[in-house]
Amino acid sequence: MNLIGEHTDYNDGFVMPAAIDFYTWVRVSPLETRKLHIRSENYGEEVEIDLDDPNIVAQRRWSDYPIGVAVMLERAGHRLRGARLEIRGEVPIGSGLSSSAALEVATACALTAISGLKIDKRELALICQQAENEFVGARVGIMDQFVSLFGQAHKALMLDCRSLDFKLLPVPDNVRLIICNTMVKHALASSAYNERRAECEAGVKHLQSYLPHVKALRDVTFEQLEQYGRDLPDVVYRRCRHVITEDERVLSAATALERRDLNEFGKLMGESHRSLRDDYEVSSTELDTMVELAQTVEGVYGARMTGGGFGGCTVNLVSVEHTEEFRARVADGYERAMKLKPEIYVCNASDGAEEVRQD
Ligand code: ADP
Ligand code: MG
Repeated sequence: MNLIGEHTDYNDGFVMPAAIDFYTWVRVSPLETRKLHIRSENYGEEVEIDLDDPNIVAQRRWSDYPIGVAVMLERAGHRLRGARLEIRGEVPIGSGLSSSAALEVATACALTAISGLKIDKRELALICQQAENEFVGARVGIMDQFVSLFGQAHKALMLDCRSLDFKLLPVPDNVRLIICNTMVKHALASSAYNERRAECEAGVKHLQSYLPHVKALRDVTFEQLEQYGRDLPDVVYRRCRHVITEDERVLSAATALERRDLNEFGKLMGESHRSLRDDYEVSSTELDTMVELAQTVEGVYGARMTGGGFGGCTVNLVSVEHTEEFRARVADGYERAMKLKPEIYVCNASDGAEEVRQD
């Protein structure tokens, strides 16, 4: 789940996710043949592939995610052994909490463990992303896979999406990360995502004529945007302003966590939400309602939409003693306003994927 730094990943910028305590389990046992038998408890289905089949293609179903990981591992030169994989996921599916990355990363860990392979976690994250980009066919950044592997208990992870350098920052024990699911996903989301990416690219192209070193919006300061971006179309200008100020907010948010200054962190979350709503225009009535409701509850440091937008979830930083009040007030208020029951998950920043031995 992303605490701050939205739509900055594909602009080579900064994000600050945390891994949460919702798990996807993959139980793995060896097979004598080079086959994979993959079963998902959630879907009640099983598929089978032959690792030696050179023509494995995506079938537009859940199994594309684990198969994609196997295919990309092999393509990177890691020879797998045949195995049975049994999947059980408790990450809400399709809500922007990245059940897809959880599944990819869990599959990658299971397959490498059973095959006796030791692969650097950065490489594993990239292989999982590649599985989703190239095999499943979804244009996603590296953040979700990265934090699913590198996340740590009681820590947020600030990631530089260009260099993949990261920094772990303390999340104090007296707060919870509460996720509110609006239970809405507007169909607009994927076309708007591509539009926003194109607008950012247009901004970069324009700014490059003044600032030749610029490769992505990450390389542009707010002052430079003010100076050289004035003749950009208003929409493109605002998109760039969001990305550039959001990168600054992530860096400030990291400093705030280092100082354990939750008020400052929460303030930055609020600014991030407003920028996503007004400049990037990826919020929705549901998300705005959820955020506004949260801001009326005592003990809330900050609230914002998280994920790509147009529905999905909000993330809230709430003091431990107010979690129950938060849950009741926000659920009730949202249901009244939207005629829809939200789901609310109280989470902790948690460890990323690891091998669990069953004796
Ligand atoms: P999100 O990542 O936000 O949950 P996505 O659309 O990116 O949403 O990924 C959801 C897809 O991942 C599901 O439609 C399914 O194909 C696959 N998936 C996730 N969890 C499981 C699971 N436990 N078993 C099988 N497939 C899963
Ligand atoms: Mg996903």
